[in-house]
Amino acid sequence: MGKQTVEYRRRIRIKALQALGGKCARCGFDDWRALQIDHINGGGTRERRNRKQGTISYYLEIIKNPDKNKYQILCANCNWIKRYEEREDYRRDQSTEPVQVRPREQEKGGTDEG
Ligand SMILES: [Zn+2]
Repeated sequence: MGKQTVEYRRRIRIKALQALGGKCARCGFDDWRALQIDHINGGGTRERRNRKQGTISYYLEIIKNPDKNKYQILCANCNWIKRYEEREDYRRDQSTEPVQVRPREQEKGGTDEG
């Protein structure tokens, strides 16, 4: 596989991203290097399996028929957050608040009675 194939694939990827709007559906981030095509209904597992042999045809399919009900663009950040949220669905009890690092409380009680 030469450099041309890589370049070609990159160009096709950008086209596919542009066909779907060219920016993250959540936050509007638009640098293609961190944009990913996401299956809205999560049906990507099977297609993902074929991706190795058919990346380019997968993108060509999107370029030909950019079905925005089926695909959306997410940036890498939002994609990870989405994945996390999906996983969180069945452990809602856990807090999603950021962990706070609290400075250790100073020990009291040391009255200066020397
Ligand atoms: Zn985003």
